[in-house]
Amino acid sequence: MAVPKRKTTPSKRGMRRAHDALSLVNVGKCPNCGESKLSHHICGACGFYKGRAVFEEAELQTS
Ligand SMILES: [Zn+2]
Repeated sequence: MAVPKRKTTPSKRGMRRAHDALSLVNVGKCPNCGESKLSHHICGACGFYKGRAVFEEAELQTS
């Protein structure tokens, strides 16, 4: 098995980890009910997407 010849320096380790940060999720507001929702997703509170009801609120309890 290939083994690294040298120990990774703190500098090189830091350079690698400079790109490891997680970005925040893009949270938007539902234009129908104002609840915060993910963009390009159906609203979890009212079931609206692009101005029409995709599912009824009653379906939320059954599923
Ligand atoms: Zn909504």
